[in-house]
Amino acid sequence: MKMRGNREHVYKVNQNPSAHEAIEPPPNTREEGPPPPELRQAPPKVIECDGSPPAPDLFESLVIPGPTAKRSDAAAALSEGEKVHVWSKSRGIWIEDGVVQEISKVDVQILGEPIYKGSVFVVFNEGSNSKWVRPTDIQRLLRRPGASPTAQAAATGSPAAGAGTPMAPGTGKDGTEEQAPNADAVAELQEELRQARGDLLALSKSNKGLLTQLKRARSSNTALQQKLDDQTQMLQKEQEFNAALVDGLRQQGTRTCSKASDRHETVACWEYLEQEPDAWRRYLPDAEKALEEARSDKLPELTISSSGFRYRINLSAMTQTNVETRRTCTIRRREILLHADAVLKMTTETQTLRGENQRLIVDLCRKSDEILALELDIRGLQENIEAKTDSIRSLKAKIRSLSGEIDELHASHERTEECLVEAKHTARKLEVRHTELQFEHDSMKTNMEKLQSALKQERQKLYTTVLSQLPPKPLNEAARGFCRSLDIDDPKHLALLEQFQSSMANHRLKLGSDHWCEPAKVSVTRIEELIHPANQQLYEAMRRMRASEDSCRACTPTAGITAFKCEVQPGWVDMNEYLLYHGTSRCNAEQIMARGFDAQRGGESTGAMFGRGVYFAQNASKSDLYTTCDLCEGIGNHDFRQCRHAQGERCILVTRVLLGESKTAKNSGGKDQIRAPQRDDGISYDSITALEKGEGGVLDHKEFVVFKDRQTLASFRIFYRHDSSCSCNGCQHRRSGT
Ligand SMILES: [Zn+2]
Ligand SMILES: [Zn+2]
Ligand SMILES: [Zn+2]
Ligand SMILES: [Zn+2]
Repeated sequence: MKMRGNREHVYKVNQNPSAHEAIEPPPNTREEGPPPPELRQAPPKVIECDGSPPAPDLFESLVIPGPTAKRSDAAAALSEGEKVHVWSKSRGIWIEDGVVQEISKVDVQILGEPIYKGSVFVVFNEGSNSKWVRPTDIQRLLRRPGASPTAQAAATGSPAAGAGTPMAPGTGKDGTEEQAPNADAVAELQEELRQARGDLLALSKSNKGLLTQLKRARSSNTALQQKLDDQTQMLQKEQEFNAALVDGLRQQGTRTCSKASDRHETVACWEYLEQEPDAWRRYLPDAEKALEEARSDKLPELTISSSGFRYRINLSAMTQTNVETRRTCTIRRREILLHADAVLKMTTETQTLRGENQRLIVDLCRKSDEILALELDIRGLQENIEAKTDSIRSLKAKIRSLSGEIDELHASHERTEECLVEAKHTARKLEVRHTELQFEHDSMKTNMEKLQSALKQERQKLYTTVLSQLPPKPLNEAARGFCRSLDIDDPKHLALLEQFQSSMANHRLKLGSDHWCEPAKVSVTRIEELIHPANQQLYEAMRRMRASEDSCRACTPTAGITAFKCEVQPGWVDMNEYLLYHGTSRCNAEQIMARGFDAQRGGESTGAMFGRGVYFAQNASKSDLYTTCDLCEGIGNHDFRQCRHAQGERCILVTRVLLGESKTAKNSGGKDQIRAPQRDDGISYDSITALEKGEGGVLDHKEFVVFKDRQTLASFRIFYRHDSSCSCNGCQHRRSGT
């Protein structure tokens, strides 16, 4: 509501730029011939100082409403939108295109100007001019178009005196007619009465309609009144402000006047004719000063600047010419009393202040519009903010739930960290323990290796001892030979097994073949110790005899023998006793066990390459080639060449052989040789050691030949089978079937 009030207010101000024209005449009209008509009746607005104090209402007339008694109801005859003629004071003619724009319904002040109730606001001169006409001036300054200007001017000499059409309604009825006291007159009167009654009825009907309209008008009037009250309140505030300003100016003026009036001083006033015939405008103080100086210096002309224009002033012709537009107008110089000058200046200042005030109001309105726009913006922003707040709220909820998850994760993370720390601690302890254990392990390993090595040595010593021993005495020398199985944990069993397995060697696939087969893979099933007291006696006797023969001299050791060499018993000399392998058919092995070896039959089935003797090997795999199996016995086969049973159980005799002085032979000495060759000293060798090819011999593996039965003692029998995966030359031969 306040906003609208301001806007309407500004609208009026803009539409009414010369509102003051009606109440404030141009200054110093005295010198310009007869004043315009309204000045004859209006109170004087400028009073020259003639020595008496200034009129007390000099300023009041500018701002204080006049007495209400002067108001007229003339405006009531006019209505808004009606066309009227307007009297132009400056041009002295009626302008015929005036339109009543507004009729004031109350007493108000606009920018300090009093607008009385009933004042009429007219727009004229093609809408370019407008002014408020106070009620007392309506008769003089406005007229309805129907009036005749010529008759009017002629009759009264005043434009307003004879306004043709009556402005006020209901001119009184002329009641000067004589009465006719007769029946006709009565009848006429009765007729008139009837008509009057009919009129009355019609009037009362229309009156009801008017009452309704009046009610409506009153209600709308109340709203308008409210609006006007608001505006009035605002205008009063402005008036108070202006009144304070004017009060200050009046005090200043009074002081100036009182000083000036004492001395009757005058001051030069320079003016230019802005518009013909009498719209004089005073120069600004700086320009006035320059002009006055030029005049006293008697300069013919000078140039001044004002409002962005430059003017050429000719002081002899008293004209000014705009340098840019070449427009020329008249100027004048007057001497006015000092206090009048002050009044003029103050009036000018007041006008300036009013203009400033208007600009401020315009600014205020613009600011209000801006504020309104800003409020709209703010409302939009608030809606935005609400939407944002909603989304922020949902985001916060999300953040809360995420925070919960994060807390859980953090808690589990910390638990894990604790576990990790513990685990690290444990790991460190374990590492230390590991290092300790490693050290312990290393030292134990070293110890163990030492122990193992010692154990191995002990074991070898034990093996050597047990294998070197002949069966203990006393023996029943008359008893027959027999055999007994060795337990698998018997040291003899262990020692023999080790010897047996480690003696397996590579062999050619066939005689003369370049293909060498893998060593035989065999499993020992049992080992028997053979005890034959008679044979043992013979063997020991032979050994004693042989030892005594050679003057207690030890036999020459033979290099490169891998077979087990028996320990030399204390008190004995080394007789080169070895445990060697002899392979033969199973039935022949039985016979050897019962009777011992028969050197006369030696090489019977194998070909006696080194003569007629008993042949031994240091590789069990070589002896294996001359064996038959249990399956051969079942079918009556005693020839090792005919055995086709790779998986049959075989046996090899482990024989204690007294090699003594052994002749190393590089090649065959002849089949028919029946004794060992002779030495250089004429004594016979005890045996032959047939050398291998690497030693200059003809064999792949060594062979040993003895020619006397008593140099041999069958001591053990080893039963074994070739594994099913064995690919030795023997297995390949037996599987081939040829
Ligand atoms: Zn953490
Ligand atoms: Zn047999
Ligand atoms: Zn067989
Ligand atoms: Zn085999």
